[in-house]
Amino acid sequence: MITMASEKVTLKLDSFFDETYTLDPYGTPSFKMFMGGEWRSSEDSYEVKTPITGEVLAKAASANKDELSEAIASASEHRHRIRDIAAIERIELFREAVRLMEKYREDLTWTLIVESGKSLKDAEGEVNAALNRMKLTMEDARKIYGEYMPGDWSEDTLGKIALVLREPIGVVAAISPFNYPLYMPVAKIVPALLSGNAVVAKPPGSNPIISLLYTKILEEAGIPHGALQVITGSGGVIGDALVADDRIGMVSFTGSTPVGKRISTFAGIKKHHLELGGKGAAVVLEDASLDLAVEKCVSGSFKNAGQRCDAVSVIYVVEGVADIFVEKVVQIASKWRMGDPRDSSIDMGPVTDLKAAQRIQSLVDDAVAKGAVRLLGGNHKNTYFEPTVLDRVPLNANIALEETFGPVVTIVHVKNEDEALEIANKSRYGLDSCIFTNNFYKIWKMAKRLQTGEVTVNDSPRHGVGFFPFGGWKDSGVGREGIGYTIEEMTNLKTIIFNMEPAGLGKVKQR
Ligand code: NAP
Repeated sequence: MITMASEKVTLKLDSFFDETYTLDPYGTPSFKMFMGGEWRSSEDSYEVKTPITGEVLAKAASANKDELSEAIASASEHRHRIRDIAAIERIELFREAVRLMEKYREDLTWTLIVESGKSLKDAEGEVNAALNRMKLTMEDARKIYGEYMPGDWSEDTLGKIALVLREPIGVVAAISPFNYPLYMPVAKIVPALLSGNAVVAKPPGSNPIISLLYTKILEEAGIPHGALQVITGSGGVIGDALVADDRIGMVSFTGSTPVGKRISTFAGIKKHHLELGGKGAAVVLEDASLDLAVEKCVSGSFKNAGQRCDAVSVIYVVEGVADIFVEKVVQIASKWRMGDPRDSSIDMGPVTDLKAAQRIQSLVDDAVAKGAVRLLGGNHKNTYFEPTVLDRVPLNANIALEETFGPVVTIVHVKNEDEALEIANKSRYGLDSCIFTNNFYKIWKMAKRLQTGEVTVNDSPRHGVGFFPFGGWKDSGVGREGIGYTIEEMTNLKTIIFNMEPAGLGKVKQR
């Protein structure tokens, strides 16, 4: 049973955020976009509905192609305003943004709960991760030095030296998904601005408000006018034009694989960084610490209602320990409380919308029809999908290889680690995986052979602030995010070569 609070779902915003919206005659906030250093309404708007009850929470501006073009023009025209600020001053601006974010932490946390349906724990975790990501990126921006290269190593370059610089790209398009609507924009906007780029950000259509609040914080912290534009609306309407525009120097995209592939065709040869879908596999072997494996596999499957690219999306457990593993999984999974996320004691809120719940339902129904054993949950009411456990999932079930993006523990029995490897590597995705075993040689063998960007040993994949490099193989994307790595992606290399021969410096060619 889902317990629901009776009050209407509303935002609670400090007057600090007043400029970001107007109130309509019924008291519904209508959010603006941020372009050229101004908060502006659009000709059109659309309804932002809360996943908690489906009520209209607010309206948001719906950018059209002309407004998009204006936003790109503003970023392109004003990009020097951020590039020309001394790097240390840019860091100071973000120090103020950190202070403001800490000050308005409660507004941000509540907005994540009501706009995205996150549990209090997940919402607090996202605000913390965003704050820490900002702080670490500020540290990292201090290391944009480049390199000195002596030419003496090659006959061809004797008498020359080179300086290899990292320069801003120009304008970065930052396109982010619904599942981490604060953290993902932060992970793109902050390194882009700190490395001297202007930004056109496009938050997800379903939950754009949190990124507008963050934009207000950046504006107040002193980010120069025109350096950051945040346009809201439908990616289906403005996405292609944004990505294809010649004034955009780089596209930093996080989202689904089909949209990522589309972006790749529209971006052409401009730099694009794609963080896409995944099918995180967990492999549990005989000698695993079973309680640890159970706890991590369940939380890895259920956290954020399973709506994580790095979720544990399928578990391969070897026959020798399968029965006891499954029994313990059901015990732990039954303790997860799902319901109205305004109740701080619940562990898991609704999924993003009804369509998402129906999609998960069809994956579960398909698996059961093909022989999977449903041990817990398996149904949804509106946007609330029950914490679900499916055992003995056959490999012809769609859920065995396709991204679930919902709160389902999916268990497949295997003979041994070789069979687990063979099946896991059949996935078209290659983002995350994890292994539970204490056998060093098996860890090494599996870690080397799994075709994923990350392999976690004895924990579920958890990327937190993104300190370690993160990204996918195969259909999970190209490029790497992470402290250091994102800044590298968002800068262009330039090599300046000096001929020192006239000065008689350095080694000279023997003629
Ligand atoms: P999505 O549907 O691909 O949308 C992502 C963003 O792209 C949204 O802002 C969307 O706008 C926009 N968009 C839509 N069509 C576009 C187009 N033609 N051109 C440019 N942008 C366009 O993904 P989602 O459902 O929000 O997010 C879930 C997916 O993201 C999952 O597959 C998940 O695995 C993946 N993800 C990956 C990572 C990672 O690091 N690898 C992290 C988080 C999530 P609208 O919302 O307005 O349509």
